Amino acid sequence: MERAEITRGQLDIVATPIGNLEDLSPRAQRVLREADRILVEDRRHAQRLFQSIGLQPRTEPLHEHNEREQIPRILAWLAAGEHLALISDAGMPLISDPGYPLVSELRRAGVRIAVIPGPSALLAALALAGLPTDRFCFEGFLPAKSGARQQRLQELAQETRTLVFYEAPHRILDTLQEMCDRFGAERGAVLARELTKLHEEGIGENLGEILATLNAHPERQRGEMCLVVAGAAASAAAEADLDQLLRPLLAELPLAQAVRIAEAQSALPHRRLYQRALA
Ligand code: SAM
Repeated sequence: MERAEITRGQLDIVATPIGNLEDLSPRAQRVLREADRILVEDRRHAQRLFQSIGLQPRTEPLHEHNEREQIPRILAWLAAGEHLALISDAGMPLISDPGYPLVSELRRAGVRIAVIPGPSALLAALALAGLPTDRFCFEGFLPAKSGARQQRLQELAQETRTLVFYEAPHRILDTLQEMCDRFGAERGAVLARELTKLHEEGIGENLGEILATLNAHPERQRGEMCLVVAGAAASAAAEADLDQLLRPLLAELPLAQAVRIAEAQSALPHRRLYQRALA
């Protein structure tokens, strides 16, 4: 398809509320009114949003099971000059939600794309948690299968940036227990629950405390939740760096010699390297 043809239409990516309908911005409302069609993750869910602003738009389903097969139809609508909007069930589309294959394909095709920013549980939880925000990483949902989850948590144990996870209520206790085992129960953390809704709350100071609170109050295991976890202390990360330096040397050489070489390579104090090598 010709690039010039495609650029007649436009796709607007529109963030929608994560619980509180008042969070739909005036600009988002205008774009939804003006769109020729709205791509929605779930029609019934979207209906509630549209009703709240008295809208009866033409909708097309776009969810994880049909996204790729919808792309050619969407390209054809855009080529015909249509103005499309993309929403998901809540928050920012593409963020643990459908839209990534579509947007990447449309960019390649030269389609004009705009984003109408707004609510997203990720940033709301991070802001609420009061943990360092200068550097953070978004982990979305952990894998559902136990082996893959353990592996992911192991990989993240030394991450020094603040970590943000999405989690489902039926997994939260297991996740907290696994994180206590891998990261330590003292690791700083906040569970951001029911953001923007009536029972919004931020639970806990650390992983162990959140687990204890949820065990004592089963009703607080329900609802929508994000887990924000403090990064590993810089010292823990430094230990991991030391291990990386020492491990190959220790595999080949006696301890004292391995430490001497590590000392020469890193200019770190002998005592620190020696103790780590012993450990
Ligand atoms: N695209 C959405 C966004 O921008 O936040 C996220 C969609 S993802 C499928 C849904 C997950 O986001 C939930 O399982 C929960 O972890 C988190 N979430 C969504 N709304 C929330 C809320 N009101 N409070 C806390 N977490 C929420």
